[in-house]
Amino acid sequence: MGMIAARGASLNEGIRFGRIFYYSEEMGHAAFDAIKEPTIVVAIDLTPRDTLRFGRLNVVGLVVKNAGPSSHTAILSRTMGLPALSSEDVSAQWHGMPGIIDGRGELIVDPDEPARLGYALRADEFDARQRELASVSRGLSAVTKSGKSILIYANINAASDVENAVANGAAGIGNFKTEFMFMEASELPGEEEQFQVYKSMASRLGKGKFVIRTLDIGADKTPSYLHLEPEENPALGYRAIRISLDRLDIFVPQIRAILRASAFADVAIMYPMIVSVDEVIRIKEIVGKVMEDLTGEGVPFNRDIEQGIMIETPAAVLISDDLATLVDFFSIGTNDLTQYMLAIDRTNAKLADRYGPYHPAILHSIKLVVENARNAGTWVSISGELAADEALTSTFLEYGVDALTVSPSKIPQLKVAVSNID
Ligand code: PEP
Ligand code: MG
Repeated sequence: MGMIAARGASLNEGIRFGRIFYYSEEMGHAAFDAIKEPTIVVAIDLTPRDTLRFGRLNVVGLVVKNAGPSSHTAILSRTMGLPALSSEDVSAQWHGMPGIIDGRGELIVDPDEPARLGYALRADEFDARQRELASVSRGLSAVTKSGKSILIYANINAASDVENAVANGAAGIGNFKTEFMFMEASELPGEEEQFQVYKSMASRLGKGKFVIRTLDIGADKTPSYLHLEPEENPALGYRAIRISLDRLDIFVPQIRAILRASAFADVAIMYPMIVSVDEVIRIKEIVGKVMEDLTGEGVPFNRDIEQGIMIETPAAVLISDDLATLVDFFSIGTNDLTQYMLAIDRTNAKLADRYGPYHPAILHSIKLVVENARNAGTWVSISGELAADEALTSTFLEYGVDALTVSPSKIPQLKVAVSNID
């Protein structure tokens, strides 16, 4: 077979060389054991759990058929810095062949010498530019020419991503998605184990806010040991705060661990998938009781810790005036908000061109949420993938958004974009 160029939609940029590994879930553990040399994984489907596992191995790129732009495969590839494509064109026949992934939209299978040399040069240029941008970003505040500032935080999925956030000049961690830590574990992580992880992350982060999001499991993020039943409509099902409020044996240890870590840094807690005022009231009752317990035990924590919620359901948008009076901050999760507002599955690559975060309903929602938040003195970040979209940065500034929370690799470019706005 001669050189083939397969096209795909970009999920994350970057150029890497590796041997192609055609993966399917039935391969089980053997697949992970087989990865030794730099590898480009090609697959029809990739669960968030598999994506994370490959990211810890010598995998340098991902080409996945069923991966929408806001799927967890896409998000994880961005946080892990792996070039990634969503491509209709994936073939088991490429297995074992040398390849080059260009995350802007191409997989070259069995490249000839001129292709190799051309891509090697472009890869070096791309990497040098990324390094230069990161170094500029570390010394730069995100302030417009007229002096409007916005905080640029990092979205991270693993404790080990803190270094990447700092290296790219993050002002803090705007969303540590703890469910990935739970998915990588083989059993439920307990309070002490979580506390040590959060505390170590806080000290490696140094200054800046550290927002820890409580478990957002369910839908496509399911740790095997929780034995969650398969559901007809998992995205609308038993997930996130719905599980936490039922399973205090999981929620309370997590809250205790986060509160204990708050004695060491500017830690904040965030709750996912809120749809009602009652949920927030119930959460605050539970957290208040945990605080009483810790006080009684003489365990130090920050009593004024900020508590916030994700705004990622249409219901939360419409009652954001009431919700704003109950919390310290909002984080607008445009990935889920787009999915629920437009009734389009975020993981479905077939609907990717219809999954439009530019839909006026999304922008109106963001505007309304920020207005309601401001009236109540609640600060707002945007933490979906839309936050990194430079075409919207000045709109977000106009709305009065306080922070944008994006993948670490997107921070440098975004800070530079802010500083170029009038
Ligand atoms: C979102 O829904 O936009 C979000 C930030 O959370 P996640 O992508 O983890 O669901
Ligand atoms: Mg979400």
